[in-house]
Amino acid sequence: MSTEVSGTAGGRGGRAMLELQGLVMRFGGVTALREVDLTIGEGEIFALIGPNGAGKTTVFNVVTGVYQPTEGQVLFQGERISGVKRFRITKRGVARTFQNIRLFHNMTAVENVMVGADAHHRSGMLSVALGLPAHRRAEREGRALAMELLDFVGISHRANDHAKNLPYGDQRRLEIARALATNPKLLLLDEPAAGMNPAEKVALQQLIRDIRDAGRTILIIEHDMSLIMGISDRIAVLDFGQKIADGLPDEVRSDPRVIEAYLGAPADAS
Ligand code: ADP
Ligand code: MG
Repeated sequence: MSTEVSGTAGGRGGRAMLELQGLVMRFGGVTALREVDLTIGEGEIFALIGPNGAGKTTVFNVVTGVYQPTEGQVLFQGERISGVKRFRITKRGVARTFQNIRLFHNMTAVENVMVGADAHHRSGMLSVALGLPAHRRAEREGRALAMELLDFVGISHRANDHAKNLPYGDQRRLEIARALATNPKLLLLDEPAAGMNPAEKVALQQLIRDIRDAGRTILIIEHDMSLIMGISDRIAVLDFGQKIADGLPDEVRSDPRVIEAYLGAPADAS
């Protein structure tokens, strides 16, 4: 299948936001990615699916600079980011959430979001240490922004609760708010619906659309097929580190290789 950005699918100008070119990732004897090519267009909601162990999270780890690819490269807005330091990749506009939620459990929700923003700005460490007015002003502004983001993801009423006391679905939302605090152009969501109940999943779909409509591009890993089919402009499927399909939701859903590898036999096959 084509890896071109489909004009009808993304439909938002078609400029590439993220390109994976011939990505190979080996861990000792394990090959997690096998020459993966992928192009995600600006403004798309792009889903990456596949069985457990297919290499999905590894894609995120390579894109965010946790790992250097064994071969191949990653381009972000046309510029190479493989080999670039993690915080610089964040600064350029890439943020993520984690499959296993990573929050500061004994900090409040609003503080968790402020930490996300700090990781982005990284400036003024001296004024922080000295408690200078510039820092106090920055902190006030940071708190106001964090409150806006909590409101945006729908948990502002939880602002002063410790992260560990938030219900699971709200912790996932908090992770998204923290990622948004870096003002990303590209947001990577690693199984954001895991552990959510059906009502929370519906609300999450809308949140993801809202994030995209606010001008961001989204790459989402998720197992819930109805959620994925409901929001994705395009879908790519990984299996044993290899891309086996890439296209519109309907194309991918009816692709025999995908059905065999991932979706199971179609209901009408028996
Ligand atoms: P997925 O997210 O699709 O479930 P992963 O990307 O987490 O899959 O893992 C893909 C493969 O790479 C698995 O076999 C996994 O064990 C392996 N893997 C991922 N990260 C590492 C690592 N840091 N060291 C060794 N093997 C790894
Ligand atoms: Mg994973």
